[in-house]
Amino acid sequence: MALYSCRLLTFAFLGWFLVKLTTAEFGEHSCFFAGALEPTQGGVEILIFFYADTRHTNTFFSSDIKKPGTGAGTRPTILSAEAVYCKALRPNFECFLGYDAAPMKVLGLETSCDETGVAVFDPDRGLLAQALHSQIDLHKIYGGVVPEIASRDHIRRLLPLIRKVLGDAGMERPDAVAYTAGPGLVGALMVGSGLANGLGLAWSCPVIPIHHMEGHLLAPMLEEDAPVYPFLALLVSGGHTLLVAVKGLGLYDVLGSTLDDAVGEAFDKTAKLLGLDYPGGPALAVLAENGDPQAYTFPRPMLKRPGLDFSFSGLKTAVMLQVKKSAEEGNTDRVRADIAASFQCAAIDTLVTRSIQAAKQTNLDRIVVAGGVGANLHLREQLAERFDGRVYYPRPEFCTDNGAMIAIAGALRLSDGSEPATIHATARWPLETLIPPGSANPA
Ligand code: ADP
Ligand code: MG
Repeated sequence: MALYSCRLLTFAFLGWFLVKLTTAEFGEHSCFFAGALEPTQGGVEILIFFYADTRHTNTFFSSDIKKPGTGAGTRPTILSAEAVYCKALRPNFECFLGYDAAPMKVLGLETSCDETGVAVFDPDRGLLAQALHSQIDLHKIYGGVVPEIASRDHIRRLLPLIRKVLGDAGMERPDAVAYTAGPGLVGALMVGSGLANGLGLAWSCPVIPIHHMEGHLLAPMLEEDAPVYPFLALLVSGGHTLLVAVKGLGLYDVLGSTLDDAVGEAFDKTAKLLGLDYPGGPALAVLAENGDPQAYTFPRPMLKRPGLDFSFSGLKTAVMLQVKKSAEEGNTDRVRADIAASFQCAAIDTLVTRSIQAAKQTNLDRIVVAGGVGANLHLREQLAERFDGRVYYPRPEFCTDNGAMIAIAGALRLSDGSEPATIHATARWPLETLIPPGSANPA
């Protein structure tokens, strides 16, 4: 029996009850477990793991040990790094975790940047409640997010929002807590991470760290018409521009990313040049509605180059030069709208062309679009017009940062058996380093 939270391991063997105690993190020190097996491995045929921290019944295995998959009501899953490691060491071992994974209601916390998002997701009934507090008004006067102000506001907002969401969901406490562990502003992440782990201790429930971009790419799963794996994900936000081949939960191949500015950042910076308030992306899109997208021919950087990467700094510079030139000639509202429309046309053309190239290369006929720029109507129109396959979006409120995407990511990872709780807050975290729940690289 592996007791993750208290870091204890007990090991029953041939009527003996071998007790191993450790303060080591099993996930990081798999060799510890190999050592524990050494004296006994000759006689062991089946190795059974109980994950005793889930508050699920785990008694069905105690008297009636069966092969995985044959016991009534059992849902054997390989859970731990150690199980996989032992299987690699001793291929004859049956390594699995046996527990009845009842669906768990997950509280999701998002605090990676300037939005405090909280939600409860129930795998049986869907999204039960959610609330969001945007800090835009606090950061507006600075023209961008001030990290220290963001962290302090998350501290103020998080507990009242959690109380509200639990109240709206009609529950006192969830079965698990999921939180954004990165990437993002490290101070802001620490607020969510610290509180999630504190609540996990208080409620004695699992705590699951979630990658923010995984949250975004799973957000369309909140909708009734959810995509099935595999699919291509276009993740376009203020901090990221990524094309990802998604083969399953935690199985991500990053096909392309931006070499400089993210596309949302390019929208925001261009909007600023045109005198629009932060965050300018949505305002620029509104201004562009009245402009002529053919008025100026802005560059589509990288499109002629092989590979699937993006670059938006050249486009931003071209717009800046045009804004300066137009200012000298008298920068009318008409000209501003034309520049906005021409910029939007170039940026969206770049995203759509690259996405179609990626879909062809990977033979995928489903594209999931997520992240704040996914709310852009011109992007949606262009994809519908030019892409032959199906395109999936989260509802507009879940395109930008929110707690619901973190809650569903936590629920999906938990239902497959997730990792032990450790406190995470990671400012830089490449998406492709994620692995599916319950699996581990023995190396
Ligand atoms: P991040 O997580 O990086 O903060 P979000 O996913 O919250 O990003 O998305 C915010 C970004 O999306 C901002 O850069 C914003 O300008 C952009 N954005 C939001 N709506 C639109 C829109 N309709 N058109 C273009 N960009 C948009
Ligand atoms: Mg985001």
